[in-house]
Amino acid sequence: MINLIEKLAKSIDSAENSKNLSGALRDFFIKNFKVNRFDVFVIDKKRNTVKDLSKDWVNPNSDNKNETFKSTLENLKTTKYLTNYQDSLEYALTKSGNIVGFIRISGGNTDKLIDFLQTASYIISIKVQNIILAESMQKNIDFYELMRNIAKIIETQYELNYVVPLIGEMIDKFMPDYLIYIFIKSNSKMELLWPANCKDPNILAEVKALQEKYDYSSVKKQGIGIFPLVNENTLLGCITAKSMGAEFNDTDVNYLEQLAKQSSSTINRAIVYAEILKHATMDALTGFYNRHQLEERIKQETSKAKRQKTPLCVIMTDIDFFKRVNDTYGHAAGDLVLKTVSKTIRSQLREYDIAGRYGGEEFALLLPNTRTEEAIMVAERLRKAVENKKVDFSKINSENTGALINVTISSGIYEFKKTDTPGDLLKKADKALYEAKESGRNKIVVNKDEQK
Ligand code: GH3
Ligand code: MG
Ligand code: MG
Repeated sequence: MINLIEKLAKSIDSAENSKNLSGALRDFFIKNFKVNRFDVFVIDKKRNTVKDLSKDWVNPNSDNKNETFKSTLENLKTTKYLTNYQDSLEYALTKSGNIVGFIRISGGNTDKLIDFLQTASYIISIKVQNIILAESMQKNIDFYELMRNIAKIIETQYELNYVVPLIGEMIDKFMPDYLIYIFIKSNSKMELLWPANCKDPNILAEVKALQEKYDYSSVKKQGIGIFPLVNENTLLGCITAKSMGAEFNDTDVNYLEQLAKQSSSTINRAIVYAEILKHATMDALTGFYNRHQLEERIKQETSKAKRQKTPLCVIMTDIDFFKRVNDTYGHAAGDLVLKTVSKTIRSQLREYDIAGRYGGEEFALLLPNTRTEEAIMVAERLRKAVENKKVDFSKINSENTGALINVTISSGIYEFKKTDTPGDLLKKADKALYEAKESGRNKIVVNKDEQK
Protein backbone atom coordinates (compact mmCIF):
# COMPACT_ATOMS: atom_id res chain seq x y z
CA MET A 1 0.00 0.00 0.00
CA ILE A 2 2.74 2.49 0.96
CA ASN A 3 4.43 1.33 -2.14
CA LEU A 4 1.36 2.21 -4.23
CA ILE A 5 0.98 5.60 -2.59
CA GLU A 6 4.56 6.36 -3.44
CA LYS A 7 3.95 5.22 -6.98
CA LEU A 8 0.92 7.51 -7.24
CA ALA A 9 2.85 10.50 -5.90
CA LYS A 10 5.60 9.86 -8.41
CA SER A 11 3.31 9.47 -11.37
CA ILE A 12 1.49 12.76 -10.80
CA ASP A 13 4.51 14.74 -9.69
CA SER A 14 5.53 15.97 -13.11
CA ALA A 15 2.02 16.93 -14.33
CA GLU A 16 2.04 20.63 -15.19
CA ASN A 17 -1.56 21.32 -16.11
CA SER A 18 -5.01 19.88 -15.46
CA LYS A 19 -5.07 17.84 -18.65
CA ASN A 20 -1.73 16.25 -17.85
CA LEU A 21 -2.77 15.57 -14.32
CA SER A 22 -6.08 13.96 -15.20
CA GLY A 23 -4.29 11.83 -17.80
CA ALA A 24 -1.67 10.71 -15.29
CA LEU A 25 -4.30 9.86 -12.68
CA ARG A 26 -6.40 7.95 -15.17
CA ASP A 27 -3.39 5.93 -16.34
CA PHE A 28 -2.42 5.16 -12.77
CA PHE A 29 -5.85 3.84 -11.77
CA ILE A 30 -6.38 1.88 -14.95
CA LYS A 31 -3.00 0.23 -14.55
CA ASN A 32 -3.04 -0.46 -10.82
CA PHE A 33 -6.74 -0.95 -10.08
CA LYS A 34 -8.06 -2.12 -13.45
CA VAL A 35 -10.78 0.54 -13.44
CA ASN A 36 -12.79 1.33 -16.60
CA ARG A 37 -13.25 5.03 -16.10
CA PHE A 38 -11.63 7.63 -13.96
CA ASP A 39 -12.61 11.31 -13.78
CA VAL A 40 -11.84 14.19 -11.49
CA PHE A 41 -14.31 17.05 -10.97
CA VAL A 42 -13.42 20.26 -9.21
CA ILE A 43 -15.63 23.03 -7.81
CA ASP A 44 -15.03 26.67 -8.57
CA LYS A 45 -17.08 28.61 -6.06
CA LYS A 46 -16.60 32.00 -7.70
CA ARG A 47 -17.96 30.82 -11.00
CA ASN A 48 -20.42 28.39 -9.51
CA THR A 49 -19.16 25.73 -11.86
CA VAL A 50 -17.79 22.23 -11.72
CA LYS A 51 -14.82 21.46 -13.85
CA ASP A 52 -14.08 18.14 -15.41
CA LEU A 53 -10.33 18.31 -14.95
CA SER A 54 -9.68 17.01 -18.45
CA LYS A 55 -12.19 19.28 -20.15
CA ASP A 56 -13.75 22.74 -20.13
CA TRP A 57 -15.98 24.20 -17.50
CA VAL A 58 -19.56 23.08 -17.16
CA ASN A 59 -22.20 24.79 -15.13
CA PRO A 60 -24.20 22.53 -12.83
CA ASN A 61 -27.04 25.04 -12.58
CA SER A 62 -27.67 25.64 -16.23
CA ASP A 63 -27.72 22.17 -17.62
CA ASN A 64 -30.05 19.29 -16.66
CA LYS A 65 -27.37 16.79 -17.43
CA ASN A 66 -25.37 18.27 -14.62
CA GLU A 67 -28.06 17.87 -11.99
CA THR A 68 -26.12 14.84 -10.81
CA PHE A 69 -23.17 17.04 -9.92
CA LYS A 70 -25.30 19.06 -7.59
CA SER A 71 -26.68 16.10 -5.71
CA THR A 72 -23.28 14.37 -5.58
CA LEU A 73 -21.71 17.46 -4.08
CA GLU A 74 -24.56 17.82 -1.64
CA ASN A 75 -24.25 14.19 -0.49
CA LEU A 76 -20.48 14.23 -0.24
CA LYS A 77 -20.71 16.95 2.35
CA THR A 78 -21.77 14.35 4.90
CA THR A 79 -19.91 11.27 3.78
CA LYS A 80 -16.51 10.59 2.29
CA TYR A 81 -17.74 8.52 -0.60
CA LEU A 82 -20.82 7.34 -2.48
CA THR A 83 -21.26 4.04 -4.27
CA ASN A 84 -24.75 4.36 -5.63
CA TYR A 85 -24.35 6.22 -8.89
CA GLN A 86 -24.37 3.91 -11.93
CA ASP A 87 -22.06 1.36 -10.32
CA SER A 88 -19.48 3.97 -9.75
CA LEU A 89 -17.58 5.13 -6.75
CA GLU A 90 -17.51 8.82 -5.98
CA TYR A 91 -14.88 9.93 -3.53
CA ALA A 92 -14.64 13.41 -2.03
CA LEU A 93 -11.60 15.61 -2.40
CA THR A 94 -11.32 17.93 0.57
CA LYS A 95 -9.31 20.79 1.87
CA SER A 96 -9.40 21.58 5.60
CA GLY A 97 -12.56 19.56 5.88
CA ASN A 98 -14.40 21.30 3.02
CA ILE A 99 -15.27 19.58 -0.19
CA VAL A 100 -13.38 20.96 -3.18
CA GLY A 101 -14.27 18.31 -5.74
CA PHE A 102 -14.59 14.58 -6.20
CA ILE A 103 -13.27 11.59 -8.08
CA ARG A 104 -15.62 9.35 -10.05
CA ILE A 105 -14.45 5.82 -10.78
CA SER A 106 -16.23 2.96 -12.47
CA GLY A 107 -14.95 -0.59 -12.54
CA GLY A 108 -12.22 -2.05 -10.33
CA ASN A 109 -12.56 -3.45 -6.85
CA THR A 110 -14.53 -0.89 -4.84
CA ASP A 111 -13.30 -2.00 -1.41
CA LYS A 112 -9.68 -1.85 -2.45
CA LEU A 113 -10.22 1.53 -4.04
CA ILE A 114 -11.89 2.98 -0.95
CA ASP A 115 -9.09 1.67 1.20
CA PHE A 116 -6.47 3.23 -1.04
CA LEU A 117 -8.30 6.55 -1.38
CA GLN A 118 -8.48 7.04 2.39
CA THR A 119 -4.89 8.20 2.11
CA ALA A 120 -4.46 8.85 -1.60
CA SER A 121 -7.33 11.35 -1.85
CA TYR A 122 -5.28 13.88 0.16
CA ILE A 123 -2.34 13.63 -2.20
CA ILE A 124 -4.62 13.95 -5.21
CA SER A 125 -6.49 16.85 -3.67
CA ILE A 126 -3.34 18.86 -2.93
CA LYS A 127 -1.94 18.30 -6.41
CA VAL A 128 -5.24 19.23 -8.06
CA GLN A 129 -5.44 22.45 -6.09
CA ASN A 130 -1.86 23.41 -6.77
CA ILE A 131 -2.41 22.99 -10.47
CA ILE A 132 -5.67 24.93 -10.49
CA LEU A 133 -4.06 27.76 -8.58
CA ALA A 134 -1.08 27.82 -10.92
CA GLU A 135 -3.39 27.86 -13.93
CA SER A 136 -5.50 30.72 -12.70
CA MET A 137 -2.36 32.69 -11.86
CA GLN A 138 -1.02 32.00 -15.33
CA LYS A 139 -4.31 33.18 -16.87
CA ASN A 140 -3.96 36.45 -14.96
CA ILE A 141 -0.38 36.89 -16.09
CA ASP A 142 -1.48 36.23 -19.67
CA PHE A 143 -4.25 38.77 -19.26
CA TYR A 144 -1.93 41.58 -18.19
CA GLU A 145 0.51 40.65 -20.92
CA LEU A 146 -2.35 40.86 -23.41
CA MET A 147 -3.47 44.27 -22.10
CA ARG A 148 0.08 45.51 -22.44
CA ASN A 149 0.40 44.15 -25.96
CA ILE A 150 -2.84 45.80 -27.07
CA ALA A 151 -1.54 49.10 -25.69
CA LYS A 152 1.79 48.60 -27.44
CA ILE A 153 0.45 48.01 -30.96
CA ILE A 154 0.13 51.72 -31.38
CA GLU A 155 3.89 52.19 -31.12
CA THR A 156 4.33 50.75 -34.58
CA GLN A 157 0.96 50.73 -36.30
CA TYR A 158 -1.97 52.99 -36.83
CA GLU A 159 -3.68 51.36 -39.78
CA LEU A 160 -7.02 50.08 -38.50
CA ASN A 161 -7.04 47.30 -41.05
CA TYR A 162 -3.97 45.96 -39.37
CA VAL A 163 -4.49 47.01 -35.75
CA VAL A 164 -7.98 45.53 -35.40
CA PRO A 165 -7.23 42.05 -36.75
CA LEU A 166 -4.18 41.94 -34.52
CA ILE A 167 -6.30 42.73 -31.47
CA GLY A 168 -8.87 40.18 -32.61
CA GLU A 169 -6.30 37.45 -32.97
CA MET A 170 -4.80 38.16 -29.58
CA ILE A 171 -8.12 38.16 -27.72
CA ASP A 172 -9.24 35.07 -29.59
CA LYS A 173 -6.14 33.19 -28.48
CA PHE A 174 -6.65 34.32 -24.89
CA MET A 175 -10.32 33.29 -24.76
CA PRO A 176 -10.53 29.93 -26.51
CA ASP A 177 -14.08 29.28 -25.24
CA TYR A 178 -15.52 32.21 -27.20
CA LEU A 179 -15.76 33.24 -30.84
CA ILE A 180 -14.56 36.82 -31.04
CA TYR A 181 -15.68 39.41 -33.61
CA ILE A 182 -14.66 43.04 -33.89
CA PHE A 183 -16.82 45.64 -35.59
CA ILE A 184 -15.70 49.20 -36.27
CA LYS A 185 -18.02 52.06 -37.05
CA SER A 186 -17.30 53.58 -40.41
CA ASN A 187 -19.58 56.12 -42.09
CA SER A 188 -22.18 55.42 -39.41
CA LYS A 189 -22.26 51.71 -40.30
CA MET A 190 -20.82 48.93 -38.18
CA GLU A 191 -18.29 47.07 -40.29
CA LEU A 192 -16.80 43.72 -39.39
CA LEU A 193 -13.00 44.06 -39.38
CA TRP A 194 -12.23 40.73 -37.79
CA PRO A 195 -12.50 37.87 -38.68
CA ALA A 196 -13.33 37.79 -42.40
CA ASN A 197 -17.03 37.16 -41.97
CA CYS A 198 -19.86 36.72 -39.54
CA LYS A 199 -22.95 34.80 -40.54
CA ASP A 200 -24.69 34.82 -37.17
CA PRO A 201 -27.90 36.87 -37.59
CA ASN A 202 -28.24 37.35 -33.81
CA ILE A 203 -24.82 38.93 -33.56
CA LEU A 204 -25.48 41.19 -36.54
CA ALA A 205 -28.81 42.28 -35.06
CA GLU A 206 -27.29 43.04 -31.65
CA VAL A 207 -24.46 45.02 -33.20
CA LYS A 208 -26.93 47.04 -35.23
CA ALA A 209 -29.08 47.68 -32.17
CA LEU A 210 -26.07 49.01 -30.30
CA GLN A 211 -26.02 52.12 -32.47
CA GLU A 212 -29.45 53.16 -31.36
CA LYS A 213 -28.45 53.13 -27.72
CA TYR A 214 -27.57 56.07 -25.54
CA ASP A 215 -25.46 54.33 -22.97
CA TYR A 216 -22.81 51.95 -24.10
CA SER A 217 -22.52 49.37 -21.37
CA SER A 218 -21.93 45.74 -22.21
CA VAL A 219 -24.85 43.42 -22.93
CA LYS A 220 -25.12 39.64 -22.61
CA LYS A 221 -27.93 37.85 -24.36
CA GLN A 222 -28.37 34.20 -25.34
CA GLY A 223 -24.72 33.35 -25.22
CA ILE A 224 -23.70 36.53 -27.05
CA GLY A 225 -21.82 39.33 -25.32
CA ILE A 226 -21.51 42.79 -26.84
CA PHE A 227 -18.70 44.93 -25.48
CA PRO A 228 -18.82 48.44 -26.91
CA LEU A 229 -15.64 50.25 -27.93
CA VAL A 230 -16.16 53.78 -26.75
CA ASN A 231 -14.09 56.92 -26.55
CA GLU A 232 -15.49 59.89 -24.65
CA ASN A 233 -19.05 58.80 -25.26
CA THR A 234 -18.50 58.22 -28.94
CA LEU A 235 -19.10 54.74 -30.20
CA LEU A 236 -16.09 53.47 -32.15
CA GLY A 237 -17.31 49.91 -32.62
CA CYS A 238 -17.65 46.80 -30.52
CA ILE A 239 -16.14 43.49 -29.61
CA THR A 240 -18.60 40.63 -29.58
CA ALA A 241 -18.02 37.26 -27.98
CA LYS A 242 -20.14 34.23 -28.67
CA SER A 243 -19.76 31.54 -26.08
CA MET A 244 -19.22 28.02 -27.31
CA GLY A 245 -20.66 25.96 -24.51
CA ALA A 246 -19.81 27.52 -21.19
CA GLU A 247 -22.04 30.32 -19.91
CA PHE A 248 -20.57 33.78 -19.62
CA ASN A 249 -19.16 33.97 -16.14
CA ASP A 250 -18.13 37.03 -14.17
CA THR A 251 -14.44 36.44 -14.68
CA ASP A 252 -14.74 36.26 -18.46
CA VAL A 253 -17.07 39.25 -18.62
CA ASN A 254 -14.62 41.21 -16.54
CA TYR A 255 -11.76 40.23 -18.84
CA LEU A 256 -13.73 41.21 -21.92
CA GLU A 257 -14.83 44.54 -20.47
CA GLN A 258 -11.27 45.49 -19.63
CA LEU A 259 -10.00 44.28 -22.99
CA ALA A 260 -12.66 46.38 -24.72
CA LYS A 261 -11.52 49.41 -22.74
CA GLN A 262 -7.88 48.91 -23.65
CA SER A 263 -8.77 48.21 -27.27
CA SER A 264 -10.88 51.39 -27.42
CA SER A 265 -7.90 53.42 -26.37
CA THR A 266 -5.60 51.79 -28.94
CA ILE A 267 -8.18 52.06 -31.71
CA ASN A 268 -8.98 55.65 -30.87
CA ARG A 269 -5.32 56.58 -30.97
CA ALA A 270 -4.93 54.77 -34.27
CA ILE A 271 -7.79 56.82 -35.72
CA VAL A 272 -6.29 60.07 -34.42
CA TYR A 273 -2.80 59.20 -35.63
CA ALA A 274 -4.04 58.17 -39.04
CA GLU A 275 -5.73 61.55 -39.38
CA ILE A 276 -2.58 63.43 -38.36
CA LEU A 277 -0.36 61.28 -40.52
CA LYS A 278 -2.44 61.96 -43.59
CA HIS A 279 -0.57 65.23 -43.57
CA ALA A 280 2.80 63.63 -43.02
CA THR A 281 4.84 62.27 -45.87
CA MET A 282 6.92 59.46 -44.49
CA ASP A 283 6.02 56.09 -43.05
CA ALA A 284 7.49 55.83 -39.57
CA LEU A 285 8.50 52.18 -39.67
CA THR A 286 10.13 51.92 -43.08
CA GLY A 287 11.14 55.49 -43.86
CA PHE A 288 9.42 55.11 -47.23
CA TYR A 289 6.75 57.51 -48.47
CA ASN A 290 3.41 56.72 -46.86
CA ARG A 291 0.49 55.69 -48.99
CA HIS A 292 -0.98 59.13 -49.28
CA GLN A 293 2.31 60.69 -50.37
CA LEU A 294 2.98 57.76 -52.68
CA GLU A 295 -0.23 58.49 -54.52
CA GLU A 296 0.78 62.14 -54.88
CA ARG A 297 4.15 61.14 -56.29
CA ILE A 298 2.51 58.76 -58.75
CA LYS A 299 0.37 61.60 -60.07
CA GLN A 300 3.45 63.79 -60.51
CA GLU A 301 5.58 61.10 -62.12
CA THR A 302 2.90 59.91 -64.53
CA SER A 303 2.22 63.41 -65.75
CA LYS A 304 5.93 64.07 -66.09
CA ALA A 305 6.39 60.85 -68.07
CA LYS A 306 3.56 61.87 -70.36
CA ARG A 307 4.85 65.40 -70.82
CA GLN A 308 8.46 64.50 -71.36
CA LYS A 309 7.74 61.21 -73.14
CA THR A 310 10.07 59.33 -70.81
CA PRO A 311 9.54 55.76 -69.66
CA LEU A 312 8.31 55.01 -66.16
CA CYS A 313 8.08 51.66 -64.42
CA VAL A 314 6.51 50.54 -61.19
CA ILE A 315 7.48 47.52 -59.13
CA MET A 316 4.98 46.24 -56.58
CA THR A 317 6.75 44.15 -53.97
CA ASP A 318 5.26 42.06 -51.19
CA ILE A 319 7.00 39.94 -48.56
CA ASP A 320 6.25 36.23 -48.89
CA PHE A 321 4.53 34.41 -46.03
CA PHE A 322 4.98 37.38 -43.77
CA LYS A 323 2.12 36.33 -41.54
CA ARG A 324 4.19 33.31 -40.55
CA VAL A 325 6.99 35.56 -39.28
CA ASN A 326 4.53 37.38 -37.01
CA ASP A 327 2.92 34.15 -35.87
CA THR A 328 6.22 32.42 -35.13
CA TYR A 329 8.38 35.18 -33.72
CA GLY A 330 5.88 37.85 -32.69
CA HIS A 331 4.84 41.22 -33.91
CA ALA A 332 8.03 43.07 -32.88
CA ALA A 333 10.09 40.60 -34.89
CA GLY A 334 7.76 41.20 -37.85
CA ASP A 335 8.42 44.92 -37.56
CA LEU A 336 12.15 44.35 -37.55
CA VAL A 337 11.84 42.28 -40.73
CA LEU A 338 9.84 45.10 -42.35
CA LYS A 339 12.51 47.60 -41.37
CA THR A 340 15.33 45.40 -42.63
CA VAL A 341 13.63 44.58 -45.92
CA SER A 342 12.82 48.23 -46.62
CA LYS A 343 16.41 49.23 -45.85
CA THR A 344 17.71 46.51 -48.15
CA ILE A 345 15.39 47.66 -50.93
CA ARG A 346 16.39 51.30 -50.51
CA SER A 347 20.07 50.41 -50.72
CA GLN A 348 19.51 48.86 -54.16
CA LEU A 349 17.68 51.80 -55.70
CA ARG A 350 18.94 54.97 -57.40
CA GLU A 351 18.54 58.19 -55.53
CA TYR A 352 15.70 59.45 -57.69
CA ASP A 353 13.71 56.23 -57.52
CA ILE A 354 10.65 56.57 -55.33
CA ALA A 355 9.86 54.02 -52.63
CA GLY A 356 6.45 53.96 -50.91
CA ARG A 357 4.78 51.72 -48.37
CA TYR A 358 1.55 50.80 -50.06
CA GLY A 359 0.14 48.84 -47.13
CA GLY A 360 1.27 46.38 -44.42
CA GLU A 361 4.19 44.57 -46.04
CA GLU A 362 3.64 45.71 -49.60
CA PHE A 363 5.83 48.33 -51.26
CA ALA A 364 5.46 50.30 -54.47
CA LEU A 365 8.66 51.41 -56.19
CA LEU A 366 8.49 54.02 -58.92
CA LEU A 367 11.40 54.00 -61.34
CA PRO A 368 11.47 57.11 -63.55
CA ASN A 369 13.38 56.92 -66.85
CA THR A 370 13.26 53.15 -66.72
CA ARG A 371 12.05 50.58 -69.24
CA THR A 372 10.68 47.14 -68.47
CA GLU A 373 13.98 45.38 -69.18
CA GLU A 374 15.86 47.52 -66.68
CA ALA A 375 13.06 47.26 -64.14
CA ILE A 376 13.33 43.48 -64.36
CA MET A 377 17.02 43.75 -63.56
CA VAL A 378 16.33 46.02 -60.60
CA ALA A 379 13.59 43.73 -59.28
CA GLU A 380 15.87 40.73 -59.64
CA ARG A 381 18.60 42.55 -57.75
CA LEU A 382 16.14 43.37 -54.96
CA ARG A 383 14.90 39.80 -54.85
CA LYS A 384 18.43 38.44 -54.41
CA ALA A 385 19.45 41.08 -51.88
CA VAL A 386 16.44 40.37 -49.68
CA GLU A 387 16.84 36.61 -50.01
CA ASN A 388 20.44 36.86 -48.79
CA LYS A 389 19.78 39.27 -45.96
CA LYS A 390 19.69 37.67 -42.52
CA VAL A 391 17.59 39.28 -39.81
CA ASP A 392 18.80 38.86 -36.25
CA PHE A 393 16.01 38.75 -33.67
CA SER A 394 18.23 38.60 -30.60
CA LYS A 395 17.99 42.37 -30.26
CA ILE A 396 14.29 42.37 -29.61
CA ASN A 397 13.68 39.23 -27.66
CA SER A 398 16.10 37.27 -25.54
CA GLU A 399 14.06 34.12 -26.21
CA ASN A 400 14.94 34.42 -29.85
CA THR A 401 18.68 34.43 -29.32
CA GLY A 402 20.43 33.08 -32.32
CA ALA A 403 17.28 33.21 -34.44
CA LEU A 404 18.60 34.35 -37.78
CA ILE A 405 15.96 34.24 -40.42
CA ASN A 406 15.57 35.45 -43.96
CA VAL A 407 12.48 36.20 -45.97
CA THR A 408 11.80 36.43 -49.68
CA ILE A 409 9.81 38.88 -51.77
CA SER A 410 7.70 38.63 -54.88
CA SER A 411 7.34 41.48 -57.35
CA GLY A 412 5.05 42.57 -60.14
CA ILE A 413 6.29 45.00 -62.79
CA TYR A 414 4.38 47.30 -65.06
CA GLU A 415 5.54 49.98 -67.50
CA PHE A 416 3.38 53.08 -67.76
CA LYS A 417 1.53 53.77 -71.00
CA LYS A 418 0.30 57.24 -71.82
CA THR A 419 -3.30 56.10 -71.80
CA ASP A 420 -3.03 54.86 -68.19
CA THR A 421 -4.48 56.79 -65.29
CA PRO A 422 -2.30 57.05 -62.16
CA GLY A 423 -4.56 54.46 -60.54
CA ASP A 424 -3.99 51.98 -63.39
CA LEU A 425 -0.32 51.92 -62.65
CA LEU A 426 -0.51 50.24 -59.26
CA LYS A 427 -3.45 48.08 -60.22
CA LYS A 428 -1.61 46.59 -63.17
CA ALA A 429 1.59 46.03 -61.24
CA ASP A 430 -0.47 44.47 -58.48
CA LYS A 431 -1.99 42.06 -60.96
CA ALA A 432 1.49 40.88 -61.92
CA LEU A 433 2.40 40.60 -58.25
CA TYR A 434 -0.63 38.40 -57.71
CA GLU A 435 0.56 36.12 -60.51
CA ALA A 436 4.02 35.98 -58.95
CA LYS A 437 2.43 34.84 -55.69
CA GLU A 438 0.18 32.32 -57.41
CA SER A 439 3.02 30.79 -59.39
CA GLY A 440 5.29 30.10 -56.45
CA ARG A 441 6.60 33.33 -54.81
CA ASN A 442 10.19 34.59 -54.54
CA LYS A 443 9.89 35.64 -58.18
CA ILE A 444 9.12 38.43 -60.61
CA VAL A 445 6.28 38.71 -63.11
CA VAL A 446 5.81 41.44 -65.72
CA ASN A 447 2.36 42.66 -66.73
CA LYS A 448 2.62 43.22 -70.48
CA ASP A 449 -0.93 44.51 -70.66
CA GLU A 450 -1.20 45.94 -74.16
CA GLN A 451 -4.67 47.36 -74.09
CA LYS A 452 -5.25 50.75 -72.64
P1 GH3 B 1 1.83 36.09 -49.10
O1 GH3 B 1 3.07 35.34 -49.43
O2 GH3 B 1 0.65 35.61 -49.87
O3 GH3 B 1 2.02 37.56 -49.24
O4 GH3 B 1 1.53 35.75 -47.57
P2 GH3 B 1 1.56 36.76 -46.37
O5 GH3 B 1 1.46 35.97 -45.13
O6 GH3 B 1 2.73 37.65 -46.48
O7 GH3 B 1 0.30 37.63 -46.69
P3 GH3 B 1 -0.89 38.24 -45.87
O8 GH3 B 1 -1.32 39.42 -46.66
O9 GH3 B 1 -1.90 37.18 -45.58
O10 GH3 B 1 -0.29 38.70 -44.49
C1 GH3 B 1 0.34 39.89 -44.35
C2 GH3 B 1 0.55 40.07 -42.89
O11 GH3 B 1 1.38 41.19 -42.64
C3 GH3 B 1 -0.70 40.37 -42.12
C4 GH3 B 1 -0.23 41.19 -40.97
O12 GH3 B 1 -0.24 40.37 -39.83
C5 GH3 B 1 1.19 41.57 -41.31
N1 GH3 B 1 1.51 42.99 -41.18
C6 GH3 B 1 1.02 44.03 -41.88
N2 GH3 B 1 1.56 45.19 -41.46
C7 GH3 B 1 2.41 44.90 -40.45
C8 GH3 B 1 3.27 45.65 -39.59
O13 GH3 B 1 3.39 46.88 -39.66
N3 GH3 B 1 3.99 44.98 -38.68
C9 GH3 B 1 3.92 43.64 -38.56
N4 GH3 B 1 4.66 43.03 -37.64
N5 GH3 B 1 3.12 42.89 -39.33
C10 GH3 B 1 2.38 43.49 -40.27
MG1 MG C 1 2.84 38.99 -48.04
MG1 MG D 1 0.37 41.63 -48.42
